[in-house]
Amino acid sequence: MSTLVVRCGTLVMPTETQHNVYILAQDGVIKRITAAADIPSDATYVDAGDRTVVPGFVDIHVHGALDHDTMDATPEALEAMSRFFASHGVTSFVPTTMTAARAEIDAALDNIKVMMSRGTSGAQILGAHIEGPYLNVKQCGAQFPDLIRPANREEYCSWFERGIARLITIAPEIAANADLIDEALLSNVTVAIGHSDADYATAQRCFMRGVSQATHTFNGMRGLHHREPGVAGAVLANDNVVAQLIADNVHVHPAVMNIIYKCKTPAKLALITDAMEAVGLGDGAYKLGPQTITVRDGQARTASGSLAGSTLTLDTAMRNIMTATGCTLNEAVMMCGLTPAASIKLGDRKGNLAPGYDADITILDNQLQVQTTIVGGRIVYNRP
Ligand SMILES: [Zn+2]
Repeated sequence: MSTLVVRCGTLVMPTETQHNVYILAQDGVIKRITAAADIPSDATYVDAGDRTVVPGFVDIHVHGALDHDTMDATPEALEAMSRFFASHGVTSFVPTTMTAARAEIDAALDNIKVMMSRGTSGAQILGAHIEGPYLNVKQCGAQFPDLIRPANREEYCSWFERGIARLITIAPEIAANADLIDEALLSNVTVAIGHSDADYATAQRCFMRGVSQATHTFNGMRGLHHREPGVAGAVLANDNVVAQLIADNVHVHPAVMNIIYKCKTPAKLALITDAMEAVGLGDGAYKLGPQTITVRDGQARTASGSLAGSTLTLDTAMRNIMTATGCTLNEAVMMCGLTPAASIKLGDRKGNLAPGYDADITILDNQLQVQTTIVGGRIVYNRP
């Protein structure tokens, strides 16, 4: 049995803050949080000192990092991503596929499944987010339009049957796409609206049918007009829907980030990175599926000028949302962990620090920079 003890000067959780407590975890799961120190001699002991201990971050929409992409479908890609994300406080993530030929998506999902059972040395893989190909060409963004297609039952059932899909993004205004909602929910796959040109009424109908999330709110969707509120208006107006937000100050203006925050509240606002392979590297030319992407000043764009994923990390997203909204660290931590985890039905294991939760812990310095990351009770990152 392995034991971890973390001494916390300040422990910041989604709805409360505690001081001078110890987190005690056994075999990767938190057993108790106590004021008294009963440290077994064989325990791994971490003294966070005057730093701030928070639940590890959960990224439910992320494509790649460090020249690697989920669509590479290689163990090395997911392993490199796992280590990089951990260095930014992420303790679990959902590798995200994109629009491609079936064989490529099959290979990416098979690779995710292999790496989930094998395990990664940084952040843990929670499953797959299937973003595309069942999207609307009118809102394709950087999704390759030639391979966007209506949902095919045999195809998506084969994806769900792998048992690792956690989330699928669809444009539900296309009838065949809406038809997969029931099957997805039966397979425990959360359905998000995204890359969608639905009008307000259609979007609200999809929420009635079980779509419970919106992919990168305001990006790749019909925007908010005061006489036709579009997908964006439906997402803001419907309290049941979790809104994903790329909080990089580029995809959405900070003032609109603040509007989304006020409408959704932290319990329904999930920060994501949507990061692509350039994150962690510099400006330059990269590939995204069959397209060439140019990164300049950290902004990734296609040849036509569309934003093509981000170079955001989740710790930066956390700091950005605090600046844009004036929210508390508790709220920011909720939006980086518990809300995204709960949105894919993992809110009882991830995103909080309490008995029964996985010992996924991030330690921040007083500038809110990541100092240490612990995944399943194991230290996977220490800032040099
Ligand atoms: Zn997208």
